[in-house]
Formats: sequence, structure tokens, C-alpha cells
Amino acid sequence: MKKSLDIKTLLRENIKNIKPYSSARDEFTGEASVYIDANENPYSSVDGSKNNRYPDPYQQSLKDIVAEIKNIQKQQLFLGNGSDEAIELLYKAFCNPGKDKTIISSPTYGMYKVCADTNDIECIDIPLKPDFELDVPAILNAQTQETKILWVCSPNNPSGNLLNDSDIIKLLENFNGIVAIDEAYIDFTNKTSWIERLKDYSNLVVLQTFSKAWGLANIRLGMLFASEEIIAVINKIKLPYNISGLVQDFALKALTNNQSKKDNMVASILEERERLSKELVEIPCVEKVFPSDSNFLLVKTTAAREIYKFLLTKGIVTRDRSTIYLCEGCIRMTIGTKEENDALLLSLKEFL
Ligand SMILES: *Cc1c(COP(=O)(O)O)cnc(C)c1O
Repeated sequence: MKKSLDIKTLLRENIKNIKPYSSARDEFTGEASVYIDANENPYSSVDGSKNNRYPDPYQQSLKDIVAEIKNIQKQQLFLGNGSDEAIELLYKAFCNPGKDKTIISSPTYGMYKVCADTNDIECIDIPLKPDFELDVPAILNAQTQETKILWVCSPNNPSGNLLNDSDIIKLLENFNGIVAIDEAYIDFTNKTSWIERLKDYSNLVVLQTFSKAWGLANIRLGMLFASEEIIAVINKIKLPYNISGLVQDFALKALTNNQSKKDNMVASILEERERLSKELVEIPCVEKVFPSDSNFLLVKTTAAREIYKFLLTKGIVTRDRSTIYLCEGCIRMTIGTKEENDALLLSLKEFL
């Protein structure tokens, strides 16, 4: 099945007709010998480096390589200061503050609600079922004229599992707003990305990031994939120079010819994930290790807070998720190196 929604009917009224800021780099894109259009310093940077010129506002060279890696048209790609910027911009494009709403399914990534709150967008929580799958009838029942964005995090953070395809398809077909699928952990699965289905669903947007599998969290670079029409809107409302030239240059080098390096690191992480889950369940203070399609494990323990604090005394920082819905007693543990995982196992065995 396919779905064709008129995106214009979903956009905020003020966004539909907005005239974007036109930067000097927008108005002239060719080559010239004298650049006196952008009030830059003509000499160099104070440290002697060459950072005195504004960067490409649309990151064309970097997008060429990202589009190639992801096998998608450049026009269907937006690059953000982390995928968090894309989350923020989706609200800005589609949700009228004080009026429109968004739907999340707890337990899930915290930024959907934080960004909704800071933008005065009401966040409706239709929690995941105890098996960490979407409650499709309840989500569709909660949909109104005002519910503009539905967040689907798959694999989900903090539960770690991929969500059922058939549930997601039902939502794509029956939700009359934007369905935003966050695939931050997709590289740790064999699953094909929902990017492949963009042509079938005009209301689908997909988020991915270079922060996890690619090991580039420090440079802050996230991706949003959507129809050309949606990407054009996002480009219109983003801040002009949202990705610095340093990050563009750095990412261009880091992403070139390094896909197999990424795959090798992912393979090691997956190997360690299997070993860690097997060894964790043997430890007395561990009650259960949830199945994971990501680079972390959600671990149900006998005394989460105490274990979290005990691990801190051993110099090991985990994420205590025990106060979160459906995560009672749970600690989230990122898969580390073999040595780090060994240290974790050793410490947990010492906890009495
Ligand atoms: C880590 C994570 C992100 C990544 O955000 P960046 O801003 O790109 O670093 C996005 N979504 C989820 C669910 C995450 O866990």
C-alpha cells in the first residue's frame, strides 16, 4: 500500500509562505577572485588558519558522499547539528506552538518530549506494550487534527528492540500526520532502512546519525531523509550555516573509504553484545537481559540504583533507567570494548 498526503496541509501557516534569509553564499555560488560580499576577514584567521570564510550553507560536497553511502538523492537529504537539530526543525515546520500535538511511545528517546516541551507542543504518550511493541490501536485512537508528528524509534532507545514492521506500516497508512522513524541504531541491525519506502509514503521522514556506529558523536552530524518537498521546507527554516566548515571537511574525510572500518567495528560490537548478554544472565544480581538490536543492553537487575552506584565506585558509568515506565529495575549498558565489558562483568559479580 501507499500513502499520499498533501504535506502543505500539515505545514504551519507561517512556514508555508516564509521567505528565508538569503546569505551571501546563497546569492553567489560560482568561482571568483575577490570575495567582498560577506564581511569576512580578507587575511586569514587569528591563528593563521584559513577559517575566515563562511562555509557552504547546504554542504553540497559532503552531501554527495552521504547520498552515495545511503543510496539516496541529495534532494532528499538534510544534514543537521546532530539528529537533534532535525527533531527540532520538524516541530518548527509542522507544529503550531500552543495548538498542535505530537505522539511518543514511552519508554523512548527523551529528546522528542524535551523539544516538544520547549516549543510548547503538547506531547501525548501512548506507551509501548509490555513487550516493547507499539500500541497501534491506541495511537490511531489518539490521533486528531492537531497530532502532527508521530515518533517511532526503531531500534528503540532504551529497550533496544526493532519495532514490528507490520505495526509501522499500519501507522504509515493510517496516521494523517508526519511519521518520523528514528533509526539512530539501524547500523547494528540487518534490517533495510525505511529510507527505501520514502517513495511510497509522502508523510514518512527518517532520522539517522553518525554519532553511533560511525563513531563521530563529537562532530555532531545527523541526517534527515524525506521527500524533496519536506527537505526543501526544512532547508528554508534551518539556520543558514548549521554545519560548520570544520565539520564538513572533517566528515568528508572521515566518511570517504571508511565504510568497511565502520562495518568491522559494528561486527566487534555485535560479537561483544552476544558474549555480554550470555555472561550477564549468569550473574546473581541480573534478572534478565532484554534482546537487543542495538549497541546497548537493557538489563533488569535486583537493585538498579544500588548497582548503578556500586559500579560508579568501580569507575564504571552506566545509565540507570529504573524510574522509567516498563524499565523497573533496569540499567542500560552500552557495549564497550572487550576489556571494558570484562571490567563490567567482574564488578557486577562482586555486587552482593
Ligand atoms: C543517540 C540517539 C540519537 C543521536 O542523536 P545525535 O544528535 O545525532 O547525536 C538520536 N536518536 C536516538 C534514539 C538516539 O538514541
